[in-house]
Amino acid sequence: MSMYHEYIIHIDGDSFFAACEIAQYPHLKGLPVVVGQERGIATAFTYEAKALGITRGMPIFKIKKFFPEVIILPTHFELYKMYSQKMSNILRRYLRVVEDYSIDECFGLIENDHAHTWEDVCTLAQTIKIALQKETGITFSVGVGRTKVLAKIASKAQKPDGLTIISDRDEEMVLSQTPISKVWGIGYRTAPTLKQKGITNALQFRNLPEEYIMRTFTKPLQELWHEMHGTRIFDIGHSDNDPKSLQATRTFFPMSTDREIVFSELSKNIETACARMRRYGLLTSSVIFFVKTSEFKYFGREFRFPFFTDNPIDILDSIRPLFDAVFVKGLRYRATGVTLSHLRPFNKCEQDIFGTQKEVHDRGKLMDTFDRIRDLYGKNSIFLGASMHAMTRNRQREILDESTPYQWNLPVPFMGEVL
Ligand SMILES: [Mg+2]
Repeated sequence: MSMYHEYIIHIDGDSFFAACEIAQYPHLKGLPVVVGQERGIATAFTYEAKALGITRGMPIFKIKKFFPEVIILPTHFELYKMYSQKMSNILRRYLRVVEDYSIDECFGLIENDHAHTWEDVCTLAQTIKIALQKETGITFSVGVGRTKVLAKIASKAQKPDGLTIISDRDEEMVLSQTPISKVWGIGYRTAPTLKQKGITNALQFRNLPEEYIMRTFTKPLQELWHEMHGTRIFDIGHSDNDPKSLQATRTFFPMSTDREIVFSELSKNIETACARMRRYGLLTSSVIFFVKTSEFKYFGREFRFPFFTDNPIDILDSIRPLFDAVFVKGLRYRATGVTLSHLRPFNKCEQDIFGTQKEVHDRGKLMDTFDRIRDLYGKNSIFLGASMHAMTRNRQREILDESTPYQWNLPVPFMGEVL
């Protein structure tokens, strides 16, 4: 049987954070393990813990009281990032085009050179799954389909440790077993609207006539409908020739318990990473940040944008609530860091019908001015108000401590704050 088209593979780590912990401490295998000790709530857990009735966000004190057999661990964000990188590297060994979608998910393109026949596709998917498991010690749910949406439906079909390959003939069957609320891109607000129209599973949605879809729904749902029909609308992020991510991290002195000072340090890192990204002519749609405590514990979060940006103001606005959720009062912090991923060249960020991308670009003109001023007067000559604490703290230290080498590349006097 010959292959008529390419397929997309989607890889999803099963209860990833908890799985990374178990890969690190194999004696915990098979036990109910919960991650999130330092936050006081369960942020991730093993299937064994889930089976006991533990849910996301459950307070740790409650777990200790009602499920004393559960093992409670702190979050080790750097460890998860390491496993994430490993997963992506393994996939890149087999496929040329890979997109790191989130810390525990990747998409890959199965091109005709990788697999000539349908049997080849199945063998390749199986081989990748086995390699992932063998080399990381973590199980993954793997899905294959004609489009990203179908691949994502496939990987969700049998979790954990599943391998679901949707051939063209199986699509109807799999879609009929997929609740509409479980389809990627159908939000919690859209699902009830569709259910009101009598659409409860993915097949019913796919079977609606095109004319009706175009007339009734917005662009995101129209795109979903096409993807479910096997028409590829969503491309795989970028080829491996592009830089995959940019990072900026910094340890600061003295350590701080002050929320605004720590956020300011993070803001400075975000400004630095964005300036570097603009130099390469790239934009990002995914930001991972972390804070590190005096005891070398990491807390972090990921934020994904519905558009591409190179503007630190967009990023700061979006991650502030996540930062506030992660920041623990009373802890002392020594470092912050940020990773910008899903990078894409400026000219490949197509305009959307809502004009959001254009708005982002227009806002970005302010940053062009920042870059020009920095080129003229040095990299610390201008910065955002959000980075103010970080910059002035540095400054004070240098003024106080004469032995510190002069690091400020600042030929103009400090002019104060611009609100
Ligand atoms: Mg997962």
